[in-house]
Amino acid sequence: METLPLGFRLQDRPCLVVGGGDIAARKASLVLRAGARVTLVAPEVLPSLRADIKAQGGTVQLRRFQEDDVVGNVLVIAATSDEAVNAAVSQACQARSIPVNVVDAPALCTVIFPAIIDRSPLLIGISSNGVSPVLARRLRGRIESLIPAAYGRLASLLGEFRKQAKQHFPDASARRQFWESVLDGPLPELVFGGREAEARQQLAGLLENPAKPPSGEVYLVGAGPGDPDLLTFKALRLMQQADVVVYDRLVSAPILDLCRRDADRIYVGKARADHALPQEDINGLLVRLAREGKRVCRLKGGDPFIFGRGGEEIEELADAGIPFQVVPGITAASGCAAYSGIPLTHRNHAQSVRFVTGHLKDGTPDLPWAELVHPNQTLVLYMGLVSLGPIREQLLAHGLPISTPVAMISRGTTPQQQVVTGTLQDITDKLAATPLPAPTLIIVGDVVTLRERLNWFRD
Ligand code: SAH
Repeated sequence: METLPLGFRLQDRPCLVVGGGDIAARKASLVLRAGARVTLVAPEVLPSLRADIKAQGGTVQLRRFQEDDVVGNVLVIAATSDEAVNAAVSQACQARSIPVNVVDAPALCTVIFPAIIDRSPLLIGISSNGVSPVLARRLRGRIESLIPAAYGRLASLLGEFRKQAKQHFPDASARRQFWESVLDGPLPELVFGGREAEARQQLAGLLENPAKPPSGEVYLVGAGPGDPDLLTFKALRLMQQADVVVYDRLVSAPILDLCRRDADRIYVGKARADHALPQEDINGLLVRLAREGKRVCRLKGGDPFIFGRGGEEIEELADAGIPFQVVPGITAASGCAAYSGIPLTHRNHAQSVRFVTGHLKDGTPDLPWAELVHPNQTLVLYMGLVSLGPIREQLLAHGLPISTPVAMISRGTTPQQQVVTGTLQDITDKLAATPLPAPTLIIVGDVVTLRERLNWFRD
């Protein structure tokens, strides 16, 4: 870290601003907002700036800067257009260990101003350490748009009850769980909707009458096919809340990185035929962790209810009376189709789409083949790579034309995505020529031909 961001308490404390133009005005307005008593020194000063400073009990001295102007100030800002003056201010401060900021001259600063998002009492500062203020400001713009203006009011309200909460929950982790459950509940929406009195009442009630300690909970979250941008807001929020993350092989590393930093991570594997933990043990693990009072994020690739055995996991939770939530994810079929330019349905090519597992019991295909060979239907095969040979034979035997287009999409939506296209005639030869790493999805149907015109993702 090149600098350490700290909050500077300036209420009623003396600050010096050297300079009286636009830039000085911008900096002065920040220290004035923080309640500083400002002395401004400059031969000339904008009338509005002068008025602002006077309104807050400060003084304006219309003259040139002198070295001992800095004495007695807790913060000094140099914002003149004269480099020599700026340098003199910096030197005078540094000789006396007074924090100094010189506008547009990082080398002369001992403190720098971040771009600020003000949701007082909540404050966010973003700094590029002078390397690219424009980048920092852009980032500020994006974060501004994510945080409702009323967040400040919410923070103030929670602050009112801080002491009381400490008394009710002396244990820090129980206290945190209490606050988390408050924030997960309806209270924030009450504040955002301007019903603060009601929110205050509700919070007082919760503290007077603390419900039994928050129990554990399981979030069954679909992490999508790989690209972290395809997570839902809800998935991300729960991933950042959970105390434990239980994940399997299909969850990509960049997605795992988005989980709460200090959350425990438990890998439960599941490469084909190499089950790191048998399904029954995973189900049991979820129950045990939740009973310990943990918030567990069960993170699964794609959508948890599509070939994800998510149903079995929550069945056991339901039987054990453990609360859970299910968050849908983008399933591999949607992700791979979008990122390979293959619409799953199309007015001229396919009026229906079927998702089928290619994971065949004992290697023997027992799928309703007759239903799978309908014209104008797209077939999506999950876990089908290993059984592609027998699947192809069955489709042909049940009447699908040998010219039917096929696409195989490996590691779809990630930077490692690879797509191989062909027809039922040549697809197995093509696969032999280009072995594809797992996971791979297979799409069968006329829609595959659209890829030629519609692909947009470099792969
Ligand atoms: N619940 C998951 C599917 C789990 S089954 C979902 O909704 O996507 C595992 C199979 O999903 C793999 O064998 C592969 O066929 C497919 N799959 C998952 N992610 C994939 C990806 N990024 N690219 C290609 N196929 C994927």
